[in-house]
Amino acid sequence: MKITDIQAVKLTMPDSVPSTSAAASSVTSPQHAAGHPATAPAAKPWRSGWAEDAEVANPMSRYPHVKRHRSMWLPKDWGAVWCKVTLEDGTWGLGSTAHGRPVAAVIDDHLAPQLIGQDIMAGEKLADMMFRLTKPYGTVGLASYAISAVDLALWDARGKVLDKPVYELLGGPQKESLPCYATGNDVDWYLELGFKAFKLACPHGPADGLDGLKKNEDFVARAREQIGDGCELMLDCWMAFDVEYTVRLAERLRPYGLKWMEECLLSEDFDANIALRQRLPWQGLATGEHWYTHLPFQWACAHRVVDILQPDLTWVGGLSTCVKIAAAADAAGITVLPHGGGGTAFGQHFTMAMGCADLAEYFIGSPPGVPLEQLRGIPGVPIAKDGVVIPSNAPGFGMEISEDWLTPFFG
Ligand SMILES: [Mg+2]
Repeated sequence: MKITDIQAVKLTMPDSVPSTSAAASSVTSPQHAAGHPATAPAAKPWRSGWAEDAEVANPMSRYPHVKRHRSMWLPKDWGAVWCKVTLEDGTWGLGSTAHGRPVAAVIDDHLAPQLIGQDIMAGEKLADMMFRLTKPYGTVGLASYAISAVDLALWDARGKVLDKPVYELLGGPQKESLPCYATGNDVDWYLELGFKAFKLACPHGPADGLDGLKKNEDFVARAREQIGDGCELMLDCWMAFDVEYTVRLAERLRPYGLKWMEECLLSEDFDANIALRQRLPWQGLATGEHWYTHLPFQWACAHRVVDILQPDLTWVGGLSTCVKIAAAADAAGITVLPHGGGGTAFGQHFTMAMGCADLAEYFIGSPPGVPLEQLRGIPGVPIAKDGVVIPSNAPGFGMEISEDWLTPFFG
């Protein structure tokens, strides 16, 4: 079955779309603001969601004029982008990613003309072609976002042609359902929703000195007190630290039993990962959300620098790349918990199929008190109930998106 078209598109959902089957939030990164309800919710929020206003330590925190919030320095007008792949029998599939404007150009100007006419079933060939096509300008970074959207759309179309959910194409379900951990700082709300594992966004970093170190400890201590000893607690550090700061903070936080500290270092600094592993042999470490292609993950498995790998399916190169990462990690006895994996159809299908993925991240930035069912998400993507998600068994990724909600990105 030949591919007849590949195009970068925008998704615009009509206000009338019912939200009951929607994901809690398709938003899994600070590039997008917190998930907001589509219409006035029936339930009254307790307060606004943490992600709207909370300061989170980040690589730009050393510059006071943009320290307050990540939205002050992230690209404002790039938006999200989807990729639509159409086959000769009219079947079409969809994938999505971030950083729309430059990424859409890579899809339309380069990847699409090279892949149109190829066989949709030649999955490894198509993934390998995209990996090699982008070499002259770098497969990592923005090109990797474009590859991800195309690769996911190819998997969605392949599932629809074969009339199977994508997790069946990956070998079938490895588990019955996906236990999820809640990401965000509204811990009281996540407890109410039934989650049993929690990941906080660390508010302070080296720019806040000794006072920030103390405030970080108080912040983690408060969460541990809220959830008790029977729940897992993690801390996301979003590339904000160096080795020295991470070690100091980890030593202060040791009494609170963090399952892992996440992405403490700048993503390209591989030597720092080795140094951190040596200086913190007792602390669970996770990273990889800003790594691209399978190669850094293969390196991390070979050197065993972290315990948990966190590729983002919509950034790292798509599902094909994540399958390679899962094989390397599984062989090394390392866990793969995709970034934002519980809140997207893509992450849900990967996690359902893979033995090395035993927990799914569920980002929640919406206002506490508003049930997840009342939030607008992608129709057809199941939401977490009592901290557990069961992926859709509809063909492809199971997203219920109407074709007339899609328009060319560069219209
Ligand atoms: Mg993270």
